[in-house]
Amino acid sequence: MSISPLMPVYPRCGVRPVKGEHCHLIDEDGTRYLDFASGIAVNLLGHSHEGLIRAIQEQAATLMHVSNMYGSPQGEELSQRLVDHTFADTVFFTNSGAEAVEAAIKTARAYHQHAGDTQRSELITFTNAFHGRTMATISASNQEKMHKGFAPLLEGFQYCEFDDLEAAKALISDKTAGFLVEPIQGEGGIRPASQEFMAGLRALADEHDLMLVLDEVQCGMARTGAMFAHEHYGIEPDILASAKGIGGGFPLGACLATEKAARGMVFGTHGSTYGGNPLAMAAGNAVMKAVANEEFLSNVTEKGEKIRSRLEQFIGNYPDLFDFVRGKGLMLGLRMKVESRPFFVHLRDNHDLLTVAAGDQTLRILPPLVIGDAEIDEFFDKLSAGAADFEMPESA
Ligand SMILES: *Cc1c(COP(=O)(O)O)cnc(C)c1O
Repeated sequence: MSISPLMPVYPRCGVRPVKGEHCHLIDEDGTRYLDFASGIAVNLLGHSHEGLIRAIQEQAATLMHVSNMYGSPQGEELSQRLVDHTFADTVFFTNSGAEAVEAAIKTARAYHQHAGDTQRSELITFTNAFHGRTMATISASNQEKMHKGFAPLLEGFQYCEFDDLEAAKALISDKTAGFLVEPIQGEGGIRPASQEFMAGLRALADEHDLMLVLDEVQCGMARTGAMFAHEHYGIEPDILASAKGIGGGFPLGACLATEKAARGMVFGTHGSTYGGNPLAMAAGNAVMKAVANEEFLSNVTEKGEKIRSRLEQFIGNYPDLFDFVRGKGLMLGLRMKVESRPFFVHLRDNHDLLTVAAGDQTLRILPPLVIGDAEIDEFFDKLSAGAADFEMPESA
């Protein structure tokens, strides 16, 4: 037998973390890595946040899981917190981002079909989007590398050029249920949508009674210095998918909706065995307690601006390697002039710095939101050393 017991769908690297300490990961062999990847925007409180650990430990010892058939004081508490701090009136909890997007897709379709409009089932989605790896969420993305080998895809998605408002407008038909979009594309390369585009989609949705569905699985939950990224655009969605940071490392996702948008999500239309169980709710409540306040959010903004301005100065030293910086808060992308993956590997293997490679030649910088000046200095030390001894690929 040659297949590994762990199904070999990931090209796993040699880093084998066994312990986390604040913003560092410690490998099996004792190597200490500076973690500016955060499990891909997940560990927003770092790796050893006392409040989060205590909440999970206490809940695990009290009541880990019960069915959604019963009343949920823990779920009521977290959903109320989310409602208090967002556009939403109601929340469905999931275990992952893809499931949160699935719930969002169902909510958007049900909005129209519940009212008898069975035609309106299509969502307009955007190029280079990433919405997850389930059948519906790969079908929602135009990225062929995720489709290969998994046909037939699900129907009901129309692909449109990202950030092209006129193209989105032109695709609206009597089958359109709404738009599904990441305000800041994550996997696609930390690409923020323009103000004009986001405001334009909101206006089109209002005009045609369509659902504006935002995938904020990566850009949401305080990552950009706002609770959710759409706040920077001064617009509100009808439906929003959240996950990644929302559990701080515990598997948790959520589909948020306005009362109007959720009109089709009545008894019996959706469900999940684990979704929103007491243990997950304890994690979510601990995260919300930590991040849903002005002080925490403005600290994210301040740290983000600090890194950004230092990065902008720094890249001037390496005009052949780096192009520009983009993103918001602590969701930053370093656009490179070469493929980002070799540089990301070099930083990891030779400088003990963890980042994330992304599409469009972009290096993702996604530190825990609790970094301080010491971690920022360490990041620039490692990055500078890494840029200085990086061997440019032949083609560049
Ligand atoms: C990670 C991600 C998802 C999928 O989340 P999973 O928890 O891996 O299912 C969906 N959308 C966006 C924008 C993401 O970054």
